[in-house]
Amino acid sequence: MKRKWKFFLAIGLCLLFSCGVFLCRLTAAANAQRRLTVVLDAGHGGIDCGVLGLSTGVKESDINLAIVKKLRTFLRESGVNTVLTRSTDAGLYGVVGNGMKKRDMQIRKQIIEKVSPVAVVSVHQNSYPQNRSHCGGQVFYRADHEKGELLAAAIQKQLNAVNPFRQDRTIHTGDYFMLNCTEVPSVIVECGFLTNEKEEKLLQTEEYQAQVAGGIAQGVLSFLAVETGKTFPI
Ligand SMILES: [Zn+2]
Repeated sequence: MKRKWKFFLAIGLCLLFSCGVFLCRLTAAANAQRRLTVVLDAGHGGIDCGVLGLSTGVKESDINLAIVKKLRTFLRESGVNTVLTRSTDAGLYGVVGNGMKKRDMQIRKQIIEKVSPVAVVSVHQNSYPQNRSHCGGQVFYRADHEKGELLAAAIQKQLNAVNPFRQDRTIHTGDYFMLNCTEVPSVIVECGFLTNEKEEKLLQTEEYQAQVAGGIAQGVLSFLAVETGKTFPI
């Protein structure tokens, strides 16, 4: 009888241990999954086109989406989950009318809150009609957000390497909704200037969009590598 009791006790302990290991693995997998989600935000959309190309009239919103989709592919290939705030030309504001910009931005915020990402990358195009020679990518982060600054610097470095006009830019702080709406490291990436004739044309080519997206992806991955201690295939 005593032997039987010991036998059942041993079986029970084994089962308990196995369940513990299983639960730990499940939790670790869930955490890893959550840590490695990045929200990719294509700025504007719908009737909000953003800025228009001075030479060709191209919509900023279209270039933003094209680059975000390429960025999604690169990050997915490196094992990072991505959630897009918009994946079509449509805006997020619902009915056109009063308060649509505010509604649009609130939905972007809700998406970030829902997925609890490790980073947010908002993609835009720049404009500076006062001086059409300005070109190159430029990344903004929220003042005093240390990790946001690290993410911005990692992406900026890659954007400078990608730009053929070699007009290197530096990161800047910015007071924008997409930076202020979350505590997660969040950056606004202005990929180039739609007021610079050459860059405006370049930004409309699949090849250069892929180069820019690849640069942003490399920046994000090097930030994630530091944050998580993991290495990512690039
Ligand atoms: Zn914009």
